[in-house]
Amino acid sequence: MVNAKAIVYSNYGIPSEEIKVHKYTIDSPTADGVVLKTLAHPINPSDINQIEGVYPSRPQLAEILGSEIPIAVAGNEALSKVVEVGPDVKDLKVGDWVIPSFPNYGTWRSHCSGKESDYIKIGSPEGNLTKNAAACLSVNTCTAYEMLTTITKLEPGDWFVQNGGTSSVGRFAVQIAKILGYNSISVVRDRPNIEEVKQELQALGATHVITEEQCGSRQFLKTIKQWIGNGQVKLALNCVGGESSSNLARKLSPDGFFVTYGGMSKRPVTFPTSLFIFKNLTAKGYWITKNNFKDLDQKKHVVKTVLEYFRDQKLVAATAEETEIDWEALGDAEVLKFYQDSLQRSKSRKQLIVS
Ligand code: NDP
Repeated sequence: MVNAKAIVYSNYGIPSEEIKVHKYTIDSPTADGVVLKTLAHPINPSDINQIEGVYPSRPQLAEILGSEIPIAVAGNEALSKVVEVGPDVKDLKVGDWVIPSFPNYGTWRSHCSGKESDYIKIGSPEGNLTKNAAACLSVNTCTAYEMLTTITKLEPGDWFVQNGGTSSVGRFAVQIAKILGYNSISVVRDRPNIEEVKQELQALGATHVITEEQCGSRQFLKTIKQWIGNGQVKLALNCVGGESSSNLARKLSPDGFFVTYGGMSKRPVTFPTSLFIFKNLTAKGYWITKNNFKDLDQKKHVVKTVLEYFRDQKLVAATAEETEIDWEALGDAEVLKFYQDSLQRSKSRKQLIVS
């Protein structure tokens, strides 16, 4: 039997006020079941939105894990290690690394158990496949890969533009684009160390990095046109919204695709009318959660592809602040404080909780 702890919520609201520590036990696995220990999980914007109750896909509140009131475990993705297997389990063995097959799994916990089919095996560490890389694979890495490869057909030498260039998705997008031979322009918010950020993103694979102000400047447009030359800007990836999205859309070539996958500024997406008419722009949304529930085989295919990139050291994990939690040694109040502090820090930097 394993003594486990989870971060749960029973009401929607301000995450740091709603989360609680829940203790439960896990019995030996069923014949086709496995018991897992969590090795690492990120805190993603969608995890926070679920606790706030504003994310359209979220786990049902239910009387699970011995709770007398309806609860849900926070978190969508994690890397876990198999610690016990039932006698009928075929493809997993003790020590294997796995990630959940589907979102809404509830990953902010010390241990979990389930059927073999609840998880995708990703093997063991190799090359750049670190805990960080594996724990964040199924949301941000897969999102970047799918948006670059399934929305429209990009050929080597084609361009894409994106805002939120410093985001994890944005960092994966420029790396994957470089692997596939696409050029990129990443738009970032200005800051005192902007030159450092530009160099960092260019070292990852970004062709050019510009500020929001440069993206909105008519004068700077000449420079961008020189960079692109006879090339085609076929795709724009938007996770910001507001004025940033209009400026991004203006960089598209005729028949370009504008994809919105996030709304970090919390402002509506706006476009100049002329782009629709004179450039035949197509604007659409992208949501990995829906794709994942609809087509698990596609997810497995993308996971396999990006795993190879990590193993071949073509891809590196997005930067995150890693904090270690010792679930056993910490009391409930300390675990709660740990997560409240991590939620606070996640407002300025991606958090990876390692155990
Ligand atoms: P990160 O936590 O890694 O980074 C957040 C990014 O948002 C940074 O680039 C940050 O820029 C920027 N940002 C934060 N606040 C604002 C603001 N007010 N205005 C403009 N930019 C801002 O993010 P992720 O990579 O985890 O996620 C990025 C977005 O993608 C989120 O909206 C997330 O929900 C979404 N997403 C959507 C998916 C889908 O399937 N639709 C899948 C995965 C992610 P700065 O460096 O300047 O602070």
